[in-house]
Amino acid sequence: HATKKTMADHLRKYDSLFTLTPQRMRMVVEAFKDTLELGLQKPQQPMIPTYVFGWPTGTEIGDFLAVDLGGTNLRVCLVNLQGEGKFEITQAKYRLTEEQKQDDGQKLFDFCAECLKTFVDTNLADDNGELSLRPGETLPLGFTFSYPCSQERIDHGVLIRWTKGFGAPNTEGRDVAEMFRQSLAKYKLPIALTALINDTTGTLIASHYVNPRTKIAVIFGTGCNAAYMEKVGDIEKIKSLGIDEDAEMAINCEWGAFDSFEHEHLPRTKYDIIVDETSNKPGEQAFEKLISGRYLGEILRLVICELIDEGVLFLGQETYKLEIPYVFETAFLSLMESDPTDELLMIIGIFTHFFAVETTLAERQFFRALAKLIGRRAARLSACGIAAIVSKMGYLDEGCSVGADGSLYNKYPGFADRVHEGLQDIFGDKGKNIVTYHAEDGSGVGSAIIAAMTKLRK
Ligand code: ADP
Repeated sequence: HATKKTMADHLRKYDSLFTLTPQRMRMVVEAFKDTLELGLQKPQQPMIPTYVFGWPTGTEIGDFLAVDLGGTNLRVCLVNLQGEGKFEITQAKYRLTEEQKQDDGQKLFDFCAECLKTFVDTNLADDNGELSLRPGETLPLGFTFSYPCSQERIDHGVLIRWTKGFGAPNTEGRDVAEMFRQSLAKYKLPIALTALINDTTGTLIASHYVNPRTKIAVIFGTGCNAAYMEKVGDIEKIKSLGIDEDAEMAINCEWGAFDSFEHEHLPRTKYDIIVDETSNKPGEQAFEKLISGRYLGEILRLVICELIDEGVLFLGQETYKLEIPYVFETAFLSLMESDPTDELLMIIGIFTHFFAVETTLAERQFFRALAKLIGRRAARLSACGIAAIVSKMGYLDEGCSVGADGSLYNKYPGFADRVHEGLQDIFGDKGKNIVTYHAEDGSGVGSAIIAAMTKLRK
């Protein structure tokens, strides 16, 4: 009769499943680099040309509106660019419901326009509800729409496919800028949509405006994605457009899709496979599903459910509350990792309050260790993506800054340190030359700067 396994014994199994060795990371980096190169040749995504040409000069000034449709919130911002890396921002956030994400696409954009109208009425109109505009004058708007779109110019973009749990019908395959313009017209707003951008591109431009050492931007939110600046001559797939080969253009990597379908390069566990197969888009966004805020809590929940099924956890307790997909939020992993008490009181709180189950100290230590494994793997895989861009572009010796944004980056304790540690595991000491930092308000400010850059070019 075998002796009963302790929680520490169980942990060893998960430790080996979720831990990435430096050697394994370097293999991922190589495959990633090939994918980036190939993407620049093949039409469609990944590696989407953004038609954002070059870095901002810092002389962009004026008032710009930005609407940012993220995975969780809708943000409306008024950005006052003051030049020399300075700006002021006024913003309002509106929560999106799950129904809105699945409801008809035009309705979703109508909601965006409605929020924009409320914002403009509150923040820009005078006491009579009028805007101080000359006849025929319109306010320029940058629309941050963070789903993969194929573009031929900056103020237009066809949605390739929804990601991050969105599924609004009648939108994929259509020009979302045009759809949004129709909604703007419905509300009779004197606003001209001048730029359609991705949050990664926005963050890239905004962080370079503030810190010119920035060469790459990464978003760690509901989804995960990156952008960087590429030489037009190296973007094979737009050669026929005859754009000056020495010009530069931002590339939206759409790296969340790395290793989708072929599933050859990423170390997926059986929990990752369940996440994928039960998602609304099986096969897609393989890299993102191992990293982003939408999925980390679910991965941990699936491990817990496995141990419940095996009779290891919560024997004799009602566990139905834990058995509902996506109830275990990624924010709980942050809270568990930052619990300062020996008794792990925060973890007691999470499990009793949200899931009505009692835990032992050994179990709580196990949950915390498990969160650490899942969070650390996400950070180290992100380091692989960053390393692939750094290596492809030859940024290692000179070093560069990486502007990062999103709740996972900003709120998960130690996430940035783990990315940096990963970069050193990949590159050795030189990895220290690559430093990530929090890019403040990137998607909104970036959208404004790009709207301004677009205006200057015209
Ligand atoms: P967006 O939806 O625009 O990407 P965020 O950057 O806020 O917005 O990312 C939201 C994601 O971040 C959600 O998936 C959520 O689970 C996760 N998240 C929220 N709070 C935390 C936290 N404290 N720690 C880790 N992840 C978090």
